[in-house]
Amino acid sequence: MKARGKEADAPINNNNNNDDDSNCSNNNSSRQAEDIVSITEAEIAEITEGSTTLYVPKSSLDTTVPPKAPAFYNPYATLNRNLTVAAYRVFAEKRSSGSGTVTMADVLAGTGARGVRVAVEVPRINEVYINDGNPRAIELAKRSASANRVTDKCRFSVQDACRLLMEHSAYKSRFNIVDIDPFGSPAPYLDCALRALEREGILSATATDTAALCGVYPDVAYRRYNGYSLRTEYCHETGIRLLLGAAAHQAMRLELGISPIFAHRTRHYLRIYVSVHLGAGWVDRTYSQIGLIHHCFKCGYRSTGEPLRIDCPMCESTLRRAGPLWIGELYDKEFISEMSEDCQKHMFRDGVKMLSAAVEETGMPPTYFTADQVAADIGVRSPSLDAIISHLRDKGFRASRSALNPKGVKTDAPAEAVRIVVQQLT
Ligand SMILES: [Zn+2]
Repeated sequence: MKARGKEADAPINNNNNNDDDSNCSNNNSSRQAEDIVSITEAEIAEITEGSTTLYVPKSSLDTTVPPKAPAFYNPYATLNRNLTVAAYRVFAEKRSSGSGTVTMADVLAGTGARGVRVAVEVPRINEVYINDGNPRAIELAKRSASANRVTDKCRFSVQDACRLLMEHSAYKSRFNIVDIDPFGSPAPYLDCALRALEREGILSATATDTAALCGVYPDVAYRRYNGYSLRTEYCHETGIRLLLGAAAHQAMRLELGISPIFAHRTRHYLRIYVSVHLGAGWVDRTYSQIGLIHHCFKCGYRSTGEPLRIDCPMCESTLRRAGPLWIGELYDKEFISEMSEDCQKHMFRDGVKMLSAAVEETGMPPTYFTADQVAADIGVRSPSLDAIISHLRDKGFRASRSALNPKGVKTDAPAEAVRIVVQQLT
């Protein structure tokens, strides 16, 4: 399988020739190349995001693919950062009910949009480490921090992300929150991020290598995430589960366990938030949530958590599989309910919509159907999602929208029952 190449899922986020350029040393060297590019006053724009003033390269505001040079800022990731602020606010509120400092590390910070916003908008976080390999980016982050009067709580650095994390891997020097937002895959950073994370802390990570995670390059997914991806209608959920599976595997190697708090897919990136726990019980619990998803491309049958099987029990076609990956819950219902309230309070309307769907789908199986795919399979026009959901509920099944796909239907109904409902509605 050819690994390198443009992401088939097309451009958006941090980069688009990111497929194989995301290990620590490559990232560092690409950043070094940027170091020689200077940034002039005329190239800088002042913007407001959330309640934070940010200084960013003007060139990043008028292109669909924000450039890495002279410094990286992605205007399309505002929702991503709004949700980050909400998640960290909920976490810090719980965490600071005890005592001590709450710390966050934004180790691949670019121009510091996330880190500076956290310093400004999450007052209960006392220290924010903002690091990037590009000194121009950190210059802008410093200027933004100063404009918002949060310089005192920010710790700036220009160095390799893993080196910074390893400097904080000893007991009492670890962070309560670590964020990894690389160009491409976060897989190379998972180990050092987990080592630098305080127990019961939060690891958040963004992946933009969606072609690997969503089934275009299953072998690349296996190399990076310990599991094969699969090109199904629910491939974005599978991608998130592979990302969680990789975090789980890495945690278990360190005798740690994880529990997912929240995950989302927006535009062409996937993002996870997990809580990290110490103890054999947590390691066992984490291990029990790793498994396979089987899928039949002929009849739509899918199953989760079974040992490897070859034939579809419904139509005897050959089954395909995704994984090993995370097959447990994606969301902590209580946590995301609080995030939703926070988003409501701060007028992050897109966040409220996404979180409401996430709350509703907790406890559902780890795949979803799309009306378009089911309708195409049986050769009819696609009915509305609301009608499908309502009919499935009438028949006694659980059904809701998917937070990961606006066209997705989550249900505990088998594929056959979903097909019958779609047929009846046309
Ligand atoms: Zn089948």
